[in-house]
Amino acid sequence: MMADSFELGPIRPPSEAYSLLIRATKNCPWNRCKFCHIYKGQKFELRPVEEVKQDILAAKAMQDGLKEMARKSDYGGSLEAVVMAVLQNPPSQAYFNVALWLYHGGTGAFLQDANTLIMPTPDLVEIIKFLKQTLPSITQVTSYARSKTAAKKKPAELKALHEAGLSRLHIGLESGYDPLLEYMDKGVTAAEHIKGGRNIVASGISLCEYVVLGLGGKKMWREHAVETAKVLNQIDPAFIRVRTLTTKEGMPLYEEVQNGTFVRASDEEIVEEEKLLIENLDCHAYFVSDHITNLLQEIEGKLPEDKDKMLAAIDRFQSLSPGERHNFRVGRRVGIYNEMDDMADSQKHELAERAIEKLSDDGKQVSDKTIYFLMERFI
Ligand code: SF4
Repeated sequence: MMADSFELGPIRPPSEAYSLLIRATKNCPWNRCKFCHIYKGQKFELRPVEEVKQDILAAKAMQDGLKEMARKSDYGGSLEAVVMAVLQNPPSQAYFNVALWLYHGGTGAFLQDANTLIMPTPDLVEIIKFLKQTLPSITQVTSYARSKTAAKKKPAELKALHEAGLSRLHIGLESGYDPLLEYMDKGVTAAEHIKGGRNIVASGISLCEYVVLGLGGKKMWREHAVETAKVLNQIDPAFIRVRTLTTKEGMPLYEEVQNGTFVRASDEEIVEEEKLLIENLDCHAYFVSDHITNLLQEIEGKLPEDKDKMLAAIDRFQSLSPGERHNFRVGRRVGIYNEMDDMADSQKHELAERAIEKLSDDGKQVSDKTIYFLMERFI
């Protein structure tokens, strides 16, 4: 009998949408960041290695079952056709994940949850090796980690993880400005970010650092941009990914926004902050803006050679008339536009104008509050 479920955690990075998700630990061992609601109220747990292995075996059973169905069924031996049919009506979320992973080639795996690196290194090595032996199509194994944990790991431990097959770690750097890190209760300093990041880079594991645009609010945006760039320059990660601050009930920051202690920056102020961040970057990372919360998703490229191109995209937005900037912001936040080029489509442009009429009190200007609300529907 085929297993039809295994443990899944709540999130994975956008770039891991087609990876097999294996939950190596549960929840977040820190769980205090003010801007994060994901694991609040949930206790961190290290899962026994044997339990994680059982999940990997369950994923293999699902994979084998899907392949068998393709051989035996009316799908003409097409695994793709079977997977497509299963994706329409999966018996469980885990089954959906396995089918999606297979459909996209079955090469990537992401170990959940928030800080897998906190596991004893021999346990994590054992899980990665078992995963790769059991599912040999997997060539990329990635996970989330905290800088603080990476700063404490011995170089030999990180090297052992890389040799076992850990290809990439995703770290929430968020900011490189110490007063802001402290205010947000991130539990890590800029120096620890640098040490942890450099340890990972030195081990050969590819590193992706996440920055939260808008995290400094109206008060600390300049320092946030400049100090974050300085920290990233010293780490020199393979990837820098930005996402934009959103606040939701369940985040401690939400209360502070409601009572006025923390004043959020507007989209236009955040674009100025992003400009300052990019201007100050002096490293070799690939910069990506692929998160749904970002206003300008087209800001992407390899540093340093694409820096001018990225800054030109910002200039293009800032050079629009105030009315066109507003049209783009609203169109982007209601899901009409993906990028600025979409404004040339007159139908889309008109739809964005209609949205402004509908969502504003005066038919012309949608408030920042409404725009934030629109953004937060996506997370
Ligand atoms: S470390 Fe990451 S997952 Fe944990 S509370 Fe902070 S942002 Fe959330």
